[in-house]
Amino acid sequence: MYVNRKHRTCLELGMLSELRKFPGNVSYSRIIQEIKSLNNDRKVHGILVQLPLPEHLNHKKVLETVDPKKDVDGLHPYNHGKNLLGKDCFRPATPRGIMTLLERTKTRLEGKHAVVIGRSNIVGKPIAVMLLNSDCTVTICHSKTRNLPSLCRQADILVAAVGKPHFIKANMVKKGAIVIDVGINRLKDGKITGDVDFENVRKKASWITPVPKGVGPMTIASLMENTVKACKEIEWPKNSD
Ligand code: NAD
Repeated sequence: MYVNRKHRTCLELGMLSELRKFPGNVSYSRIIQEIKSLNNDRKVHGILVQLPLPEHLNHKKVLETVDPKKDVDGLHPYNHGKNLLGKDCFRPATPRGIMTLLERTKTRLEGKHAVVIGRSNIVGKPIAVMLLNSDCTVTICHSKTRNLPSLCRQADILVAAVGKPHFIKANMVKKGAIVIDVGINRLKDGKITGDVDFENVRKKASWITPVPKGVGPMTIASLMENTVKACKEIEWPKNSD
């Protein structure tokens, strides 16, 4: 679903988008070779490695092969490090989209208690860092966290990136909180739902994102922003083709 949306949006915006598919048993060296050739391709400004990869491919090494200047997903350690330091870089698209949503609420983030549930490299960690760099007080929760409901109830901003349908109930949310639902969960009937019990939580929240049509489209938009940034900023070595 996500891959198709990215591809379609690129075409709508007039960007070249090419999907390169490989069989599940593709060799590590073949993937590395492909990424290196895209790194050197002047008509390419952004490279996305769609996760998860099959186990044998060592996704960390694959991600590290992407040129950080074309890493529009913001998943290269170089960009993670710069994000941590609050420096200009490619920030992962989902957290970047969340920050845009928060900006649009016109809420002053300074001093707000943000509780992030989830510590993945794609969502949880980078959004926690970005909220911290925006002067929030940040609590990061994960599968081993104790007293999760009581921590959630302290949140002025609650970000749920767990991957469990309706995990956040109304009794875990403070009145007036901003609730950002990152989760995308497919139910048995095929419907997509988030991590938040939207219908009940919305009665308490000051702002809340729905699923679908909340963080998802913002992720795509942020990815496109990152790609335009790459296109503007990339400098090719003078002696290359
Ligand atoms: P992940 O599986 O890598 O991480 C899930 C996190 O939830 C882990 O850090 C884990 O510690 C935590 N967790 C699991 N059970 C928990 C519990 N009982 N209590 C507290 N924490 C718990 O997933 P991810 O890649 O970060 O994605 C999270 C969700 O967001 C998924 O549903 C994914 O599909 C969705 N997602 C959406 C977008 C988007 O654009 N909207 C982008 C990326 C991911």
